[in-house]
Amino acid sequence: MSFLPAISFFALLMVLPILVSLRRTAAAGMQFFCLGCTLSAVAIVSMMVADMVSALLPVVLGYAALISACLFIFLGFRDLLALSAPTFLLPALALAAGIIGIVVSLNGDGSLGARLLIAVGLASALLLVAGLAVLDCWPKARRACHTVIIISAAIGCAALVHALSPLHQTVGTSASHTALAFEFALAAMRATFLPLLFVAVILTVQSRIIAGLRTAIARDGLTGALSRGALIEMGERIFADCLARHRPLAFLLLDLDYFKQINDHYGHACGDIALKHFAETVSAFLDGRGAFGRIGGEEFGLILPDHTEEQATALAEAICRTVRETPVTRVHQRIRLTVSIGIATAAPGDTITEVMIRADLALYDSKADGRDRCTIAKQRQIGASARALAAAAAQLRQSDSPEQEQAAPRQATRRYRS
Ligand code: GH3
Ligand code: MG
Ligand code: MG
Repeated sequence: MSFLPAISFFALLMVLPILVSLRRTAAAGMQFFCLGCTLSAVAIVSMMVADMVSALLPVVLGYAALISACLFIFLGFRDLLALSAPTFLLPALALAAGIIGIVVSLNGDGSLGARLLIAVGLASALLLVAGLAVLDCWPKARRACHTVIIISAAIGCAALVHALSPLHQTVGTSASHTALAFEFALAAMRATFLPLLFVAVILTVQSRIIAGLRTAIARDGLTGALSRGALIEMGERIFADCLARHRPLAFLLLDLDYFKQINDHYGHACGDIALKHFAETVSAFLDGRGAFGRIGGEEFGLILPDHTEEQATALAEAICRTVRETPVTRVHQRIRLTVSIGIATAAPGDTITEVMIRADLALYDSKADGRDRCTIAKQRQIGASARALAAAAAQLRQSDSPEQEQAAPRQATRRYRS
């Protein structure tokens, strides 16, 4: 009796709890994979018992468990990868493998190796189906997928040819080196194949969960705009790209006016609705132009690649107008919103942080000039003093009394010349 099936059995037992824990995630097909893994373990034990006691019942039980396991694994892959492969494909393969198994058994070779040959052929077919689907939805892995498909097709064909050929019955007596090497490779494969298949499932599900979390982190939960981290990360990429192409870039810092008053007057829940409304209004207006994100509180950032100062200013003025003309409408209320904007463009040798600091200083000027307007930043060197000034500007904006300037003067754009 070989100890290799026992390795496979224990490996499956170790993988099973991870598959069960993944059932709680949104990953599709996990129920089927759990059943497939359990039945694979049952099949291996039954075949080991059949090998030891030479009884018919464990053989029948082993085949039934193996074929059912393969069906469940297929169903799992179908759900996980949203396969478009015809549903009858694997039941047909499972039936073919069952018939081959019976033929092999009737031929007098009821060894564990012969039975597991069928499992290998069947599992290779599974890998083929899954590999083809992965090729469809993951083009980057094209070369790796081709290799896996070619290898699994070769293994599957070799296993089936070997199972049907009378040659394998002479293994051990004729001492054929090729046959021995094949038996050795097969023994290693049958110990690892099914556990590895389930490990591949676990890794696929994990990478999907991580990708889902990345997407969730990249968005601000309330407004749906990019999160601060994602905006800065994207900004750095856009910035480097624009610099490399010698293209202009502008950054807009937008801050809602007197937002504390909205919270105080209408309640925090209404303030949340206003923030969402603002983000939706600006996003709809931008219609995919630039990267728009929430920097924090009622402060938002907009990165505009390929925008000159004039183009960015025209856009900022249009945003101010749109926000002013699109109040939040609730059952009996219309809440008027206005926004102040600081505009800064990238100069040669700038970093994104320097552009953002300049926009911050310009935003402070917009607030100081009466709000509901935009201001173009001065082109100046950002030294330690300017950074301290930006920090002070942010603090001042927070402590600035909202009682004054209730009736915001009409919009005007203040322009500095360096
Ligand atoms: P200014 O015109 O100078 O920008 O005045 P402001 O009132 O908008 O600015 P201030 O910094 O004094 O107040 C910002 C307010 O935004 C205070 C804070 O409670 C509110 N805020 C920040 N984040 C949220 C949020 O997620 N939801 C709600 N409802 N309010 C928020
Ligand atoms: Mg504000
Ligand atoms: Mg603010």
